[in-house]
Amino acid sequence: MEYIKSRIRDVYDFPQKGVVFKDLTTVFKDPRALHIIGWDLSQIYRDKGVTKVVGIESRGFIGGSILAFELGAGFVPVRKPGKLPADTLQASYDKEYGKDTIEIHRDAITEDDIVVLHDDVLATGGTMAAAYELVKRMNPKKIYINFIIELGMLNGRANLPADAEVTSLIKY
Ligand code: AMP
Repeated sequence: MEYIKSRIRDVYDFPQKGVVFKDLTTVFKDPRALHIIGWDLSQIYRDKGVTKVVGIESRGFIGGSILAFELGAGFVPVRKPGKLPADTLQASYDKEYGKDTIEIHRDAITEDDIVVLHDDVLATGGTMAAAYELVKRMNPKKIYINFIIELGMLNGRANLPADAEVTSLIKY
């Protein structure tokens, strides 16, 4: 984990003043770090019967796809409005720097699915809480929540549903 931590780049005042942005592109471009991320994420869910990994646009697509591949599960994107071509469900939420809406295809998840929701960073938790609400409407058997990085001082976990099992690889 120290190796991955050493590859994370802190970008100050992005996308606006006062935000320290945890940039994972410097992790993903490093072959060894990418391999460790895939392995460590998949170990958390290896015996849980996961059938779908839901990744949140856009940085959640990278770790989410790797996790899905490692688990032999399918991958489902949660996207910004107007990007998904077929019939969608929508949810709106507040985030650290602004307000946003996300969508998922209405037929993406079934009641037989066991789902891992994945994003790169947990900040305020608003994005993930909205994604959880979207997936919950499709009534899968179980929903896990996962991040690569958790920014503990923002206490995002408090905004996530109490019944969800939340894991993160790295906490700050
Ligand atoms: P939130 O809804 O506040 O938990 O925001 C989470 C989303 O915003 C994730 O998709 C992150 O990629 C992004 N994000 C928010 N704050 C940061 C940060 N300080 N560093 C990196 N990504 C962030």
